[in-house]
Amino acid sequence: MLLGEVFPTIERRKTPRRVLVTGGAGFLGSHLCERLLAERNEVICLDDFSTGRRQNIAHLEGTARFTVLAHDVAEPVFCSVDAIFNLACPASPPHYQADPVRTMKTSVLGAITMLELARRTGARIFQASTSEIYGDPQQHPQAESYWGHVNATGPRACYDEGKRAAETLFFDYRRSFGTDIRVARIFNTYGPRMDPRDGRVVSNFIVQALRGEDITLYGDGSQTRSFCYVDDLIEGFVRLMAAEPAVEGPVNLGNPGEFTIAELAAEIIALTGSRSRLVHRPLPTDDPRQRRPDIGRARALLDWSPRIALREGLTRTIAHFEAVLGLEATGAAP
Ligand code: NAD
Ligand code: UDP
Repeated sequence: MLLGEVFPTIERRKTPRRVLVTGGAGFLGSHLCERLLAERNEVICLDDFSTGRRQNIAHLEGTARFTVLAHDVAEPVFCSVDAIFNLACPASPPHYQADPVRTMKTSVLGAITMLELARRTGARIFQASTSEIYGDPQQHPQAESYWGHVNATGPRACYDEGKRAAETLFFDYRRSFGTDIRVARIFNTYGPRMDPRDGRVVSNFIVQALRGEDITLYGDGSQTRSFCYVDDLIEGFVRLMAAEPAVEGPVNLGNPGEFTIAELAAEIIALTGSRSRLVHRPLPTDDPRQRRPDIGRARALLDWSPRIALREGLTRTIAHFEAVLGLEATGAAP
């Protein structure tokens, strides 16, 4: 079995699988599209380009097996597909809080639209869920059995509760219609093609360090996160989607290495040789204090664990941002 094939096959398959990737022009979606194309699938990338960028998929657009569909995931769509990866949703706090009602609609209506498509076509469907399901967790590290600690009325709720409702829909579609679902709870992931302007901590700190600007530490920097390099995460997606028999329940995908945000800033300053100063800014409301995935299920069920340590992943990501910022400086950036 090729791990990258969406379904395992006993015989080498003769025709490509048609795979729909919603949010395919985003950070994670573009890496996933690339991987699926490399594994001989036919890929339809559905995206409304609200936070995703054409330049993320420009290198794929010459491929005959790649189609781009400009569409809102919350609106019904019909196409014949074998598998669906549902990634469409803004992921950075500034983006998802900019239009919270739309964020909730994207998660909930988007899930219904895609689950309906899966029901009609018989496609297997994957949901990009999140560690935000656990909110500001009172159990550490977070295992899938933990039900979470989410403020339903705070500014992060449009994302957290939208994703929780989407998970509910996925499991109800399986119970009600037998839909073949896969649900990954993704922890903070970073790497090339993060949007330098989307406000997430890794991209903010690298861009600030490379430009010699102040590095903005929210709060005292003692809050923790666990950072997974994008290639490791995509490997986890592919394994979860290919797993036979189907994995019951959600699966955490993330790197269990846990760092304070102050440690992350220090590492980025060291790797870039930057002379940037650290400045403190207020901690956003409901910012989770700590995050670390328990990946026991992913190890046992998918034989998956991350391979790329933070220093190596940051080095690769910094090289990417150096190239992007260099192009911007010469006015050549797309
Ligand atoms: P991203 O913002 O780069 O990508 C999201 C993509 O979805 C963008 O291309 C955007 O244009 C598209 N999109 C948004 N709303 C849409 C709509 N209504 N219709 C169609 N397309 C729409 O974010 P990302 O980091 O690539 O995240 C992808 C998925 O993974 C999201 O569902 C996110 O919640 C989930 N996730 C990501 C992380 C992470 O660390 N990157 C962590 C947990 C979960
Ligand atoms: N953060 C920070 N400075 C920034 C951006 C983020 O200190 O410029 C902090 C933020 O408060 C949070 C952590 O870094 O504690 C991760 O933030 P991010 O927005 O990347 O992801 P999330 O909060 O969704 O995990």
